[in-house]
Formats: sequence, structure tokens, C-alpha cells
Amino acid sequence: DAGKKIAICEQVSEGSKGLFERQVVRVITPALTLQSSSSDARYLACVSIFQDRYSFSYVDVTTGECKSTELTSEQALRDELTRVSPKELLWPVGFKDLALLHIIKKMFPVLLVNFIEDSYFKEPVQALFYYLKKCHYDSLDHIQNIQTYDLQKTMRLDGATIRNLELLKTSFEGREEGSLLWLLDQTKTFMGKRLLKQWLLYPLLEVQEIQKRQRAIVELVEAASTRKKIEEYLKEILDLERIMSRLTLASANARDIVALKKALSLIPELNLEIQKLQAPLVSEALPTFGDLAILLDRAFVEDPPLSLRDGGMIREGYKASLDELIDLCRNGKNTLAQFEVQEKNRTGISSLKVRYTQVFGYYIEITKAHLDSIPPNYIRKQTLVNAERFITPELKDYENKILTAEERRKKLEFDLFEDVRAQILKEVSRLLRLAHRLAALDVLCSLAHTASQNHYECPEVLDGFQIEIWEGRHPVIEKIVSERFVPNDILLNEEQKILMITGPNMAGKSTVMRQVALITLMAQVGSFVPAKSAKIGIVDRIFTRVGAHDNLSQGESTFMVEMKETAHILKSATSRSLILLDEIGRGTSTFDGLSIAWAVASYIHDKIGAKTLFATHYHELTFLAQEKPKVCNFHISVKEVEGEVIFIRKLLPGGIRKSYGVAVAKLAGLPEDVVSQAKDMLLKLEIESRGRKLSVPSLRLPTDQLSIFR
Ligand code: ADP
Ligand code: MG
Repeated sequence: DAGKKIAICEQVSEGSKGLFERQVVRVITPALTLQSSSSDARYLACVSIFQDRYSFSYVDVTTGECKSTELTSEQALRDELTRVSPKELLWPVGFKDLALLHIIKKMFPVLLVNFIEDSYFKEPVQALFYYLKKCHYDSLDHIQNIQTYDLQKTMRLDGATIRNLELLKTSFEGREEGSLLWLLDQTKTFMGKRLLKQWLLYPLLEVQEIQKRQRAIVELVEAASTRKKIEEYLKEILDLERIMSRLTLASANARDIVALKKALSLIPELNLEIQKLQAPLVSEALPTFGDLAILLDRAFVEDPPLSLRDGGMIREGYKASLDELIDLCRNGKNTLAQFEVQEKNRTGISSLKVRYTQVFGYYIEITKAHLDSIPPNYIRKQTLVNAERFITPELKDYENKILTAEERRKKLEFDLFEDVRAQILKEVSRLLRLAHRLAALDVLCSLAHTASQNHYECPEVLDGFQIEIWEGRHPVIEKIVSERFVPNDILLNEEQKILMITGPNMAGKSTVMRQVALITLMAQVGSFVPAKSAKIGIVDRIFTRVGAHDNLSQGESTFMVEMKETAHILKSATSRSLILLDEIGRGTSTFDGLSIAWAVASYIHDKIGAKTLFATHYHELTFLAQEKPKVCNFHISVKEVEGEVIFIRKLLPGGIRKSYGVAVAKLAGLPEDVVSQAKDMLLKLEIESRGRKLSVPSLRLPTDQLSIFR
């Protein structure tokens, strides 16, 4: 995670003399590490650069996922990089100095970039496999295919939108807690969690595909007891994708196999529950592995050690030759005692002893007095003052067995492990299919769980233009806010495309806008939504721009970032997009800001026609509704009681003429003196401005309206 590489070097030659041969057997890099305790994918990505397009591919060796897509603009590439957020990047050395690379490095400060010969980038994914080989990841059977995907088939989301909507983490603290992922995540497996994240980042555009997911979730909400049983089973199942990758890459241990066995043995019972369901996405029986499960159960003890080389992992009774070795190790002493008794009886020498020294190994010692009675097969080895030492072929045979039993046992157990591993790998593609089915089942159960826990409803998704949300709530704020959450209705359609939302600070403008975006996104993921009912016309992209959001890490001023992102929206949005503009123009002087906001809203109205929510504290913008037929004014109402504001949080038609800034400042605890002086000043300014005639709004309007600031 520090962006470094580690080479694992092992002794490869056998023997005990001279110099040993050593080799690098594997390289661990930020993307290529097989031991990971988190659910997160670890992507190694590569970018090929062509005349008019980029091709972008990535692989996660810990799960076997490998994908590739084509992009036609630098912006699209940056957006996709943000969604994938790779740990490591392969880049053609010939394009080392491309400005784009510097931008990418700024976007991902800890990203490790490796430069590779240009020739490896002709086929998109070739560079990935070249690099994997170089790092000694040779057997890659768990990478079953390279999935090519088309970005036109899912909702496009840019980095700013993912951040502003807090899909994966909160924008302020960067924590998962408080994000949409956190809210929706009731998954029981790491496989499920990774998939849920993907579903959130790639919402669907096809009504039928969305309805397929909906049907499954509807059923899992209704059949709550079946769902709970499925969840119980899923809890017992470990990360099969990762287990399969460790098995193929020979870094698995016996505990992985025991975990696999456990999962496989649960499938028949899980299938009994699945049988009760009807929705196509969930009702098909999971593939079963009866014979393999039996084999794994027969072969492995319940709680094997971590090391593969120390024995103790294979069950007794699995292999006769192993049983014999285990017996020898355990009973070696016993066997010798028996041998001693046997020889005493045979020779009639009661003082006969079987002993051991480092130099001679096992021997029979007989005192000089009894030398006459020794049998012919005794071979003399050593003569002492009082006694002589002998060996017999039988004793040497025992010795061999006992002394090497431990070593041979360890070796045999390792070989048996390897045998079983090979058996498992024969089934790798079916096993991965099982893993993917379990992941999807997990995500659907999770969405059903969240939906019923939080009283969500199934939205109607359609190909039309409108978005209608009745009593919608913000899914995360409603969970964490201390006051009762006030639901709001939203209607966007052909006649009412741009909502100009005014209201004082803290009234709830940002909240209501984001809840519209989140509900739309959740609907296209297939999830239920926090609303009494909702009709969602599919949107192709969601854009969100939040003013006054510093991006110092990229070394640009707030205003510059704000304008760049606004430019990006105006260039890329279509009439099917949903745009959220939250206080844009805040980062510059009032006149500039107001003028820009005015012009941006006009452009969206005239040229793009996208559904747009525009929150602003420039109440002058409400005049735009008089010029543009599809702009409608709304405000979030507040009550003022004896100079105090009370937030009602209701979105109502019409604009608002007052900003309540002083009242909000008072609420925030500004000293009484400051508040009262501000009130006096405000009064003066208001009287002064009332003296001027309010002119009919036009593009010159800001100058007239805000003359007070001169
Ligand atoms: P604005 O953008 O108008 O300044 P916000 O949308 O940031 O205001 O809302 C400020 C706070 O008000 C939120 O953090 C939340 O605690 C509360 N809030 C907003 N909308 C609602 C609502 N509908 N019901 C209850 N509380 C709300
Ligand atoms: Mg706000």
C-alpha cells in the first residue's frame, strides 16, 4: 500500500554443501498481493493509447476478474479510472511524457506506474499478462475470460459525481460510514460486497434488466423467512473467488480448502431455500459439487495448521501409506520397546537393551556375560569394556522408518494436498460460476434487507423523460439526522425541466437535490427507493457540481475547478441526463457568479434540455423563470418567528426573496452584538435598495438588483 514492490526469493537447489541457488519466485506489488484482509478489489490496470481512442483493461488476480473497454476521450478515461481506482498502472514507455499521465498521477497520489515497452500495448490486455508473467504469476486458470464492456450500456458517472453523491465514501472525511454503499450494504460475503459496489458504480440503462433485479428483490422482501435462511447460509461462506485464486496461484493453505469444503457442503441446503423462489435471477439451482465435497471432507481435518509443510492437515484413514507414517511417528518408541521384548524372549537374555546414539543410531547392547547366546543374525558394531553392541537388519529397517517417518509424513501430506488441489482446479470454471451466483444472491438479499428495514418502495422505471417522486427521502440523511426527516415531492417532466431551488442556508436545498439523484441512481441499480412511490425515466448520466468545494490537492483554485467541471457538464450532458448544480458561481465575485449561473441555466434550458436541479442563494435567479418556460421556481420554506428562523424543510412552488442570513448566523451562535449590528446594517441596505425601482428581469438584471453592493 506504500506503492512499493517486494520480491520473494527462495532457495531452489537441494543439498547441504556449497552455494545454494536462489531465485525470485514471486513479486508482490500494490496490485499483486494474494493475502488481503479487506473485501476491496485490487486492480492492475493498463492504458493503450491510439490515435483517436484509448483502450483500458484491468485485472484483479485475487479474484480472477479481468475486463477491458474502449474510450473515446481523455475525460472518459479519467472517469473510468476513477470508478475502477486501480492500485497499479501499466503505461507505454513511449508516452511517458504525455500530460495525461501527470493528471492521472495527481488524481491518484499513491498509484504505482510501471512503464512497459510500447509493443505490448497493441492488443489491449497483452501488457497485463506480460507483467503478470514477469512477476511470476504463471498459472492463471482462475482468470476464465476477458470481459469486454461497453460504457454506453451503463449509466456514466464521473469522479465528481461519485464524490458529491457520496456513493462509496463521505466527501468530507472519506469514510465508508455515511456513504450510500455503507447504507445499502447488508451483504454477508466479500464477494457480495464487491459486486454491490460494482452495481452502484454501474447503474443500468435497460428497463428490462432493471426489472429483472426488481423482481428478485420484490420476492426476497416478501419471502422474508426464506431470505433470512439464505443469509444465514451466506454468512458461513468465505470469499470463494479469493480462495480459487490462491489455489490456482499455489498460495492457498489447507484452511482455504476446508473453507471451500464447508461452502460446498452447504449448497444442497441452500438450494432447498432457492427452490422456494421464482424470480429468474435467483431461482435457478446453484451448481453442486457432491463428489468434490466428499473428497475434501475425507481428506482434510477440521482445523488444519497454516503451514503446508508441517503435516497435520490430512485426516487419518484417507491414505493407508500416510496412516502407517502417522503410526510410526506416534508409536516409534512403543515399537522399539516391543522389539526389545521380542529379542529378550528370543535370546533369553534378560539384560538385553535397545538403545540409541547419534553416531550409531539404534543398536542392541548385550553384556559380555551373555555373548554366547547371541543369534547368528546379530551384526557386531562396537565393543565396550563390559558389553558389545549389535544391529540386525530388522532393527536398521525400523530405524530408517522411525527416523524418517516425520519427514516423509510431512512430504506425503504436502503431496496429497497438491493432489487434492489439482482435483479442485479441474472444476475451476464451475466453482467460479458458483462464486458469482452466490455474490449476486448476496447482493439481492442485501438490497431486499435494506429495503424492508428502511421502508423503501419499488419504483417504476420506464423509458420516458419524467421523474416523479412522491414523499422522497434522502436515504443516508434520514438515518443520521436527529430531527424527523421531512419527505418531499419532486416532479420533473417535459414542461418542468429545470427546478430553480432557493432557500436560506441550512434549509435543505442540497439534501433535496441529492435525494433526487440518489433515488434515480438506486432505481437504476434495481434497488427499492426511499419514497412512497416513484416513477423514474431512465437517465443516461448524472452530473453533480457543488460550488465552493476546494480541490487543493490538484493545485487548482476553487473557481477554476468549478468552472472546469461546469464546462465538462455543458459539453457532455444530453437531454436524457440529470444535472445537479448546487450553488455554482459561488467561488467568484457576486456579479460574476450570478451572471455565470444565469447563463449556465439558460444554456441548459435552450441547448441541452436535461432535467436539472439548480440550488442557489442568488434569489435573483428566480427571474429566469419568467424568460424560460421550462424553468420553475421552488423554495424550501422556513418560518420566521420573532427574528428566529425555523426550518420547515418543505419544498414549495415559488421563489424566495429573503436569505435569512442574519437569522441563520444567530442560530449558529454569533455573539449578540454582532447579530444586532448586522441586523441594523441589513435594514439600512434594504431601505436604500427599496428606493430603487425593481426592474423587469433581463440579463442586465444582476447589475440593477445588486447595486447595493457598490
Ligand atoms: P442547504 O443546502 O439548504 O444549505 P442542506 O441540504 O445542507 O441545506 O441541509 C442542512 C441540514 O438540514 C442537513 O444536514 C440535515 O441535517 C437537515 N435537513 C435537510 N433536509 C432535511 C429534511 N427534509 N428533513 C430533515 N432534516 C433535513
Ligand atoms: Mg447546500
